Amino acid sequence: MSHTNNPIVIANWKMNPTTLTEAKIIAKATVAIVKKYPKVSVVVAAPQLYITEVKKVAGKSSLHIGAQNCHYDVKGAYTGEHSATQLRDAGCTYVIIGHSERRKQGETDELVAKKVLAIITAKLCPVICVGEEARDTQGNFYTLIEKQIKVALAGLPKSRLKDVIIAYEPIWAIGTGATATASDVEEMQMFIRKILTKHFDRNVAKQVRVVYGGSVNADNAADLYIKGGVSGFLVGGASLKPADFAKIVASIK
Ligand code: PEP
Repeated sequence: MSHTNNPIVIANWKMNPTTLTEAKIIAKATVAIVKKYPKVSVVVAAPQLYITEVKKVAGKSSLHIGAQNCHYDVKGAYTGEHSATQLRDAGCTYVIIGHSERRKQGETDELVAKKVLAIITAKLCPVICVGEEARDTQGNFYTLIEKQIKVALAGLPKSRLKDVIIAYEPIWAIGTGATATASDVEEMQMFIRKILTKHFDRNVAKQVRVVYGGSVNADNAADLYIKGGVSGFLVGGASLKPADFAKIVASIK
């Protein structure tokens, strides 16, 4: 399976690091990585409070800034929330949604669908996370992935499908060190494209970037990228370690 164009690596810092000073240090090191590997798009999805500062560190470099969540509405009485346009004003161009850690707190497929539209309307790129809790030998987890994708994209016009990124993140692989195998990743990446073809069409399905996330590290990235046929990675833990993150970005050639 050939890789789609525009390779991308998205750093999900989650609620890390613990101080702004540290965040700036990691951001600076990430800017150096971006400059060294200009063919790979690199996104840092920082904690909401650090977005503006990370954007300042990025300066005129091509480091993209992302958020880890957003609200589906444009404004209103939603204490503690941020809209897609507010995130855009702060410098974001990507927004992660449907992450399993947020689904655990009540983010449903229907909510993800509303957020997709809000993010697209704000002219940002949604990174839609999907993934199964566990694998069963009958392959029932494929049905779950299909539902997650189908519902998330239900309101999206076909012409905008190319603007979304699907992140396949099996929950059992997130932060556990238990990575999916390259053939698991390849199979799922092909399955996701099949679903997109079924619900939209083959040509647009080909343009969507599918990335993998789940314990990607400096040692397994090259194999997962080469054999998995994905457009890149969503990286949690290793994105906070610049030396490891550099190796992950370097593996995408
Ligand atoms: C994630 O949280 O999106 C993730 C992939 O985490 P990790 O790389 O630490 O498994």
